[in-house]
Amino acid sequence: MDKGSSQAEIKKAYRKLARKYHPDTNPDDKDAESRFKEISAAYDVLSDTEKRKQYDAGPQFFGGPGGGPGGPGFDYAAFQEAIRRGGFSGAGAGPGGAPGGFNIFDLFGGSGAAGFGRGEPPARGADLTYVLNLSFDDSLKGVTTRIAVDKDVSCPVCVGTGAAPGTSPATCPQCGGRGVVSENQGFFALSTPCPRCGGRGSIIETPCPRCGGAGISHATKKYTVKIPAGVKTGSKIRLKGKGQPSAQGGQPGDLYVKVQVAPSPLFHRRGDDLLIEVPVTITEAALGAKVPVPTTDGTISLKVPSGSQTGKILKVKGKGAPRLKGGGQGDLLVKLRVEVPTKLTKDQKKALEDFAKLRQDNPRETLKTGR
Ligand SMILES: [Zn+2]
Ligand SMILES: [Zn+2]
Repeated sequence: MDKGSSQAEIKKAYRKLARKYHPDTNPDDKDAESRFKEISAAYDVLSDTEKRKQYDAGPQFFGGPGGGPGGPGFDYAAFQEAIRRGGFSGAGAGPGGAPGGFNIFDLFGGSGAAGFGRGEPPARGADLTYVLNLSFDDSLKGVTTRIAVDKDVSCPVCVGTGAAPGTSPATCPQCGGRGVVSENQGFFALSTPCPRCGGRGSIIETPCPRCGGAGISHATKKYTVKIPAGVKTGSKIRLKGKGQPSAQGGQPGDLYVKVQVAPSPLFHRRGDDLLIEVPVTITEAALGAKVPVPTTDGTISLKVPSGSQTGKILKVKGKGAPRLKGGGQGDLLVKLRVEVPTKLTKDQKKALEDFAKLRQDNPRETLKTGR
């Protein structure tokens, strides 16, 4: 257990230790009782994001009883006193047990908490989805952008404890802070979430006036999100841990940025390929031609083979969308549309009539055999 420990690990370790040292389990053991108090006090700090930040920064930022720079709520001197009274000397204690050398993480054991406890990890915060509208160009090039997300945050007044400033949550008397209660049913001992505290292990006697005890308020958070080149409508980018916070001190949820790409007037996405429809004249289609075709990075000259039918697809390698996985680019698919002229000058009409006279084959030959 160290500064990198997750909230879930701390919670697990806490439950294990709370069970072990709970006064109900050790009715005549004064040491166990004071140990239990220390553990609860330490957990109170570690389970609170704001307080933990302050703890990690050092005692000077905790703020005294009068509310120092560290913010309201946490009484560092009282905490130190509780530690001293408990006579606890962890591996991190300085020479002579100086309080300054004390490390709350030692309370939870140095060997890591992975094997501790059988309790369920606290529920994770909910995932959030943010829909990001992108231009077609940006979807192909990639873009780094700022997004503003409405989400739950720790209440700024009670720093997430739910308790009114100047008070703090009390250990739940029904479950002794474990968050679960056991019931013996024949051979089995069933553990259920504590009905009194709802599994939090603590109860709030004086709710925070701002959040009503929920510990949560709403805020607009800004995040920078890097959209990779080649995304399309429906692509999701995950911002780990940027979802809703967990009410039980568990991991926060994730934020998913879901991409919505504006359609392009020219190109249609087909997987990593881009499709463009290009009109050609009947003579270009019949005789073959070089025609200009727009791509996402400039115009190219495309060779249309003689005898091209309408609907024919010509492939231009590597001029499609960037591939999200594996690198490279898809292809540009050029779909030909042979345009039949609707208005003819006298000379053009004459030329076509002459052409018709020269034409010997019958395109409807196949229709005869099919009855
Ligand atoms: Zn509050
Ligand atoms: Zn309880």
